[in-house]
Amino acid sequence: MRSQFSRRDFLKISGGTAGLFATAGLFRGPIKGVEPKMVDTRPRWVKETTTICPFDASGCGFICYTDSAGNLTNMEGDPDNPVNRGSACSKGASLIQLHNNKHRLEKVLYRAAGANDWEEKSWDWAIGEIAKKVKTSRNNGFVAKNAAGKTVNRTEAIASLGGATLDNEECYLLSKMLRALGIVYLDSQARLSTASGMEALAASFGQNAMNNSWTDVSNANVILDMGGNPAENYPACFSHLGEAMGKGAELISVDCRLTRTAAKAGTFVAARSGSEIAFTGGLIKYVIADIEAHPANYNLTYITEYTTAGMVVNSNFKGPADLGGMFTGYNSASHSYDQSNWSFAKASNGEPVIDKTLTNPNCVFQLLKKQYARYTPEMVAATCGCSQADFAKVCASFAATGKADKAGAIIYAMSSTQHTSGAQTVRAYAILQMLLGNIGVSGGGLFALGGESNVQGAADNGVSWNKLPGYLSAPTEDDTNFAAFAAKSSEQNAASLLKAWYGSNASSSNGFGFSFLPKTDLNTNYSYVNAIKQMAAGKIKGAFAWGANPVVESSAAGQAIQALAKLDWLVVTDMFESETAAFWKKEGISSQTEVFLLPAACSYEKEGSVTNADRWVQWRNKAVNAVGEAKSELEIISSLLSRLQSLYQGESALNAEAITKLSWTYSTNPSAADVAKEMNGYQVSSMQQIDSPEDLKSDGTVACGNNLYIGSFTDSGNKMARREQTGAFHAGWAWSWPMNVRILNNRASVDLSGQPFNAAKPVVSWNGMGWTGDAVDGKVGPVNQSGELPFKGTSGNTAQLFAAMVDGPMPEHYEPWESPVDNALSGTQNNPTAMVFEGDTKGSAGEYPVICTTIRTVEHSLGGQLTRNMPFLVELAPAAYVEISEQLASEKGIKAGDIVKLTSARGSVSVAAAVTKRLKPFSIGGKTVHQVAIPYHWGFMGIAQGDSANTLAPNTADSNSSTPEFKAFLVKVEKEADGTVPTITGRYTVLED
Ligand code: SF4
Repeated sequence: MRSQFSRRDFLKISGGTAGLFATAGLFRGPIKGVEPKMVDTRPRWVKETTTICPFDASGCGFICYTDSAGNLTNMEGDPDNPVNRGSACSKGASLIQLHNNKHRLEKVLYRAAGANDWEEKSWDWAIGEIAKKVKTSRNNGFVAKNAAGKTVNRTEAIASLGGATLDNEECYLLSKMLRALGIVYLDSQARLSTASGMEALAASFGQNAMNNSWTDVSNANVILDMGGNPAENYPACFSHLGEAMGKGAELISVDCRLTRTAAKAGTFVAARSGSEIAFTGGLIKYVIADIEAHPANYNLTYITEYTTAGMVVNSNFKGPADLGGMFTGYNSASHSYDQSNWSFAKASNGEPVIDKTLTNPNCVFQLLKKQYARYTPEMVAATCGCSQADFAKVCASFAATGKADKAGAIIYAMSSTQHTSGAQTVRAYAILQMLLGNIGVSGGGLFALGGESNVQGAADNGVSWNKLPGYLSAPTEDDTNFAAFAAKSSEQNAASLLKAWYGSNASSSNGFGFSFLPKTDLNTNYSYVNAIKQMAAGKIKGAFAWGANPVVESSAAGQAIQALAKLDWLVVTDMFESETAAFWKKEGISSQTEVFLLPAACSYEKEGSVTNADRWVQWRNKAVNAVGEAKSELEIISSLLSRLQSLYQGESALNAEAITKLSWTYSTNPSAADVAKEMNGYQVSSMQQIDSPEDLKSDGTVACGNNLYIGSFTDSGNKMARREQTGAFHAGWAWSWPMNVRILNNRASVDLSGQPFNAAKPVVSWNGMGWTGDAVDGKVGPVNQSGELPFKGTSGNTAQLFAAMVDGPMPEHYEPWESPVDNALSGTQNNPTAMVFEGDTKGSAGEYPVICTTIRTVEHSLGGQLTRNMPFLVELAPAAYVEISEQLASEKGIKAGDIVKLTSARGSVSVAAAVTKRLKPFSIGGKTVHQVAIPYHWGFMGIAQGDSANTLAPNTADSNSSTPEFKAFLVKVEKEADGTVPTITGRYTVLED
C-alpha cells in the first residue's frame, strides 16, 4: 500500500526546509578576508509544472521549475510518475537544455533556390508561401480518377514524413489536414522502427500495441531480453526489472553483444543479429515437446480455449518442412503468396473444425510442431552462433513460465523489428508467449521499447499512409463508396470519424463525405523509404519533415540527401537546424530546393498528450513560453490549413471541397484540449462528450476523431492529466487506451468462469456481478456466460498462433538480405517476399564479410538533431564510434581510438574504433563470422558531428510493414592510415554553455 507521505511531498518539504534555513541566516555569507569558493547555485522556483520526456517511448515524467519571471530554473524526474518514479537517464537529466540552449532556432529561416545561406523571415510570409507551394504541387500532381476510371482524388506530388515527436493532438490534426489535401505519401518514424512489431501484435492479439505496461514487468518470474537492452534503451524504466529481480525473477539476455542489460542478467547468450527466429523457433520446439511430455506444467485451458492451437487448417496447406522453407501458394513472379491456401477447415455446418485434443495432424498445434521440429538445439547453435548448453538453459528457464501461476516477459526493440523478417520475429515471440499462457496476465507479455516518444501515438492517430486514426484502414481505389470503406472497420467507426472531419458537410446522403478522402493505388507502396525514392525520381515535388531527420535516420541515409536535392520545396519543423533542413550545406550538393525551416516549440513549451509504448496517454503541461518565435506544430498546422482553405475558397475542381469543407473550427492557435475533445468524440446535437465505444452511431449523430481514445476526455474532465496513485495497475494515473485497460486481453488471465489462474497476482476477477481489478475491454462477462473469448479484435477473439502474414502464417528463419552464411534450415536463403527496391544493390559476403548492426546509445536520441545540440550530452558522447571485437581488431591491426572505415554496398563512414570484449566472433556452421555494432545518431550538423551510420544500411524491408533491415547487413572494415573524424564543432565550449 502506498504511503500517505509521498516522495513528492518529501521533495516539496525538502525545498521548503532549504528556504527556511536560508531565511534564518544558516547559509552564511562570505567570511571577512576569505574569498568565497562556492556560489549558491541552488535553483529557485515559484512554480512547478509536470511534463513527459520527449525522447523515447517510456513516458517518464518530469517536473519543470520556473521562477517568478517565467525562466526555467531546473528540471528533475517526477517522483510520482509510476514509470520512472523520479529517476532520469542522461537524456532526461539534460532536458533543461532543450529550452535553455543558445542553439535553438528562434526565427523562421528560408533558403531560396540555389542560395548559400538562410534568410530570416516572418511567420506570416512563410505560411503564405508554403500554402501557395502546396497548392501548386497538389494541383499539378492531382489524380482525380485512376486508369480504370475510379475516383481516387489523390496527389502523389507531396510527401509528409515524421510525426512521432509530435503530441497526439498535433498528429491527429496533421492526419486530418494531409488527407484533406489528398496526400498519400505520409508516414512517421514508426515505419522505420516499430511498425513491423505493431503488425505482428495486431495479427496475433488484435491490437497494434503491446499488451502490458512497463510498471508490471516487476511481476514477471522470468524476463527474456531478446536484444531489447532496456538498461540503455529504456534506462529510467530499468528499475522495474530490478524490482522483479529483487523478488527472485531471472533475467536472461540474448544479444549479439554483452550490453549493460546483459551485464545484469543471470544468463547471457551471445547470438548473432538476424538469427532471432531460429533461436525462438528452437524455444517453441522445446515448449511443444514439453507440453506433450509434461502437460501438468502448462495451462492447457489457456492453450486450448484461448488460442487457435486446436483449429484445423485445410489439408492443401504445406509449410517449410515440406517445401524447402516456403509455404503453399508462392508466386515467384510477384514474390508473394496466395493466402487462400492457408485457410481454416470448415465443417458441413460452416463452423470451423477444432480439435481440442491437439492431435489432428493438421491442427495448428501439430503444424507448429512439424515446422519447428527442424529447429533442434544443434541447428539453433549452428545458426545463431551460441552454445547448445546456453540455449538449453534458456529453454528450461523460460518454459517454466508455462505454469498457470507463473509469468514470463519478453523484451524486444529494434534489434528484432528492423529485419526483412521483422514482423515474423515478433510473431515468433508472440507464439511462444501464447503457448506459455503469458499474454493478458500480470508480469507477462511482449514489452516493446519504442524509440520516439510518441511513436505509438503517431500510429494511433493515423500518421501512416495506410491507417486513419484508430487504425481504420485508409481507403484504396477499390473502395468505391462509403459502405465498402466502412466494411473494413465498422459503420459506426467510419461514420463517426468522417463526422469529426467534415461536420455538417458529412451526412448519410453523401456517404459522410467519403468522396473527399484520397484513395491509394493498390500497387504502390507509400511508405517512408519509397517516399524518399520517389523524391529522388522527381515524382514528389514538395515535402514536409515534422521533427523527422531522414538524412540521418532513414535507411541508405546518403540517398536521402540526393532525394531532397531534387525537390522544388521542403518544409522542416524542428528545434535545431537538422541535417535534413541543411542538406544543401553538405559538401558537393547542388540543389535548387527552396527550404522553409520553421522553429518548433519543445515538449514543455506547449501542452498536449503523448502515448507511451504501454498505451498510457499522459498529458504534458506548458511550463515556459517557447523560445524566440518558435511555435507548436498544432499552431503551425492550423495556420497552414486555414491559409489553404482561403486559397481554395470558391473552387470545386480537383476535389477542392475536401479542403474547404473540412471542419476546422479551432482558432489559429488551437487549444490542445479542444482537439483532444474531438478525438474523444461527442454527441453532435448536444456537444456532450461520449464515454464509451457503445456510444458510437452509424447515422452521423456522433462525431469521434479516434475511437481508441474514447473515454480520454469526457465531460468529467481530462483523464489524461490525472495523477492519482489509486486503482489497480495505476488505473488512476493518466489514461490508457482502450477505456483505461492497463493489461490488454486481461480476461485471458482467468478461467472460463472468470477466476484468476494465478490467485496471487490477479488482473481481473469475476465476482458474479461484475469484474474487479483492471478495466475490461467491452461490457462482457466470463467466457462461460458470454461465450466471448478474450482476444478482442482477432478472428473468433482467439490468440492467433497461425496468422496470414504477407510472408507466411508461421515464422520461418531466413538469412538477412545480406548474410555471410547460407541458411542452414532450408534452401531458401532470404525471405522470399522481402521488399527490395528498384536500383538497390546487394553486397556480397566475398567483398563485405562482416555483419554490421546499428545500435542506440543512452546519451543520444535517434536522428540526433536534439541531443547533439545539448552540451551535457555532447560532453558525455561527443564522437561517432563503432564497437569492434578484440579478435577483429587484431586481424585488422586496429587499436582503440584508431579511425576505421566501414564500407557497405551503399556507402562508407569513418568513425573511431571502440575495441571491446563486449563483442566476440561467432562460429556459424563451423565458420568464424565477425560482427560490429555502430550507433547511428550522428550527422554533419549540431555541436557534435560525425558520419551517419545509416548510410550503410539497405532499404530492403519487411514485406508486412516496410520497415528496413537496419540490424543485419554486410560491411568491410578497414583501418584508415591517417584518418580523422569530426567530433565537437567550434560552436561548443563548456563554459559558455
Ligand atoms: S530518455 Fe527515455 S528513459 Fe530517459 S528519461 Fe526520457 S523517457 Fe525516460
